[in-house]
Amino acid sequence: MKAIVKDGSNLAVQNVNRPQLQGDGDVIVQVMLAGLCRTDLYAAEGKLQTPEKLILGHEFAGLVMDAESDQFKAGDRVCVNPLLSCGRCSHCHKGAHGACAEAKFIGIDLDGCFAGYIIVPGSSIYKLPAAMPYLEAAYAEPVAASLAVFKAGISPSEKGVIFGSNRFSQLMQNIMRIYGFENVDLFDPVGQKGQLERSSYDYVIETVISTDIFGQLVDTVKPGGKIILKSRNYEALSFRMNEVIKKEPIFHLVNYGSFQESIDLLATGKLDVQNLVDGVYRLEQYDAVFAGSKASESLKPFFAPWD
Ligand SMILES: [Zn+2]
Ligand SMILES: [Zn+2]
Repeated sequence: MKAIVKDGSNLAVQNVNRPQLQGDGDVIVQVMLAGLCRTDLYAAEGKLQTPEKLILGHEFAGLVMDAESDQFKAGDRVCVNPLLSCGRCSHCHKGAHGACAEAKFIGIDLDGCFAGYIIVPGSSIYKLPAAMPYLEAAYAEPVAASLAVFKAGISPSEKGVIFGSNRFSQLMQNIMRIYGFENVDLFDPVGQKGQLERSSYDYVIETVISTDIFGQLVDTVKPGGKIILKSRNYEALSFRMNEVIKKEPIFHLVNYGSFQESIDLLATGKLDVQNLVDGVYRLEQYDAVFAGSKASESLKPFFAPWD
């Protein structure tokens, strides 16, 4: 099968062996559509620690080809939560799957979905509602990541702002509106479009972070307000405690909401993700697609690796 492989510092489409069923619960999924996200770019650029040789990609939907599992059979349409946790430890039992010491991430620690086929444990697979297109299903991971903001205990009556001018900040605002959060603005912290009043928001959410943006978040939030940190940046931030402490803000670092809730939300048809799609590409077009995604984060490109 073809796959986009990071091999040392090199990225290329290679012919690799198809995965084979190995043990109990394993499922082989034919990848129908796979979305490219910022995390994949970081992995490709060597900014995240990965195995020397790795198939990239973690957002996808596809068709079950073969399964060592009673729950799935060939022909099932599915999507997959890329965060593979053990499901047995105390963190997993509390729902803090990201804190699981054995957690592995598809496309970072294990071979990913920019390939014709992928092997995944059945425990991380979700069946799709009959009418759900693959493209929407492949959007389930970013939607689940957006749903994490509700863990911060914010309420629709509060005034909030999302920092970012990318597809993820737009997706988050769209989702929050569906949940009744009408009072949430978007602000572009890089282009600095629009003016933000200092100390005026009950909560501020970032979808892109730097030391400078961190300072803007602190500046914008009300005293005692919530600063919700959402992006998975690999760079260190620096700030002065003596400045930040004056406002006594509450920090919430949130990772994922429920994957099932994400699929249920997409199935309602209330969330339009089609307007956040760049296009569908072949694996061989990876060079231009990766470059385009680095230049602009406004729309998400997808690969169709199955053909
Ligand atoms: Zn992602
Ligand atoms: Zn665990």
